Amino acid sequence: MPTATVSSVRRAATQVRERITAAGGDPERVALLAVTKGFGPEVAQTALTAGLLDLGENYAQDLVAKAELLGDADPAPRWSFIGRLQRNKVKLLAPHVGLWQSVDRSELGAEIARRAPGAAVLVQVDPRDEPQKGGCAPHAVPELVEQLGILGLDVRGLMAVGPTPEDDLPLDAASRAFESVAELADRLDLPERSMGMSDDLEAAVAAGSTMIRVGRGLFGDRPRR
Ligand SMILES: *Cc1c(COP(=O)(O)O)cnc(C)c1O
Repeated sequence: MPTATVSSVRRAATQVRERITAAGGDPERVALLAVTKGFGPEVAQTALTAGLLDLGENYAQDLVAKAELLGDADPAPRWSFIGRLQRNKVKLLAPHVGLWQSVDRSELGAEIARRAPGAAVLVQVDPRDEPQKGGCAPHAVPELVEQLGILGLDVRGLMAVGPTPEDDLPLDAASRAFESVAELADRLDLPERSMGMSDDLEAAVAAGSTMIRVGRGLFGDRPRR
């Protein structure tokens, strides 16, 4: 597999921004989170050098290792945690994470509030209410948002993962899922909507995404672990 270079990542980022525009979005207003999961730390450095400062990781140990390696980087990366999060990993992550995107239960919020008071968080919504995928059921989101606020966390918005091809749903399922998340965010007056990945960013942007999370679309296929 060809490794990502600064120029290949710059070119890919331009293509992603063209896709945002084609979907009716404004690339100046839709943040591009570079998802480095599954790639080595050199890819995180490459993304930074290519001007992508918002980086995302799914695994606690990988985020910490990459954040420590890039510790002196200037400009500094802004790390989002986007994966399934266990409470016992919060302490390890707290010094590095700028945005906790996958908060789906209040016990997790309580631990984040303890280790990183006032931290910026998103509530991960499971738009189709399938417990095995992580995320809070839509009907339970308003109460969770309120609880996180009481804990002193800065709830910026909602995050969602769209349906995957294995879900074998009709073509418009992603659009409907993203629209339902955007409606929920509107109703709760939350500005940030982190939705859309390499394969479904158009549907997410059309539904009002403010942040897309892109891995393969910037760096190519992930190496096997
Ligand atoms: C892996 C992942 C992404 C990026 O996926 P790509 O298909 O590589 O763009 C985005 N968000 C989450 C939560 C992920 O797990």
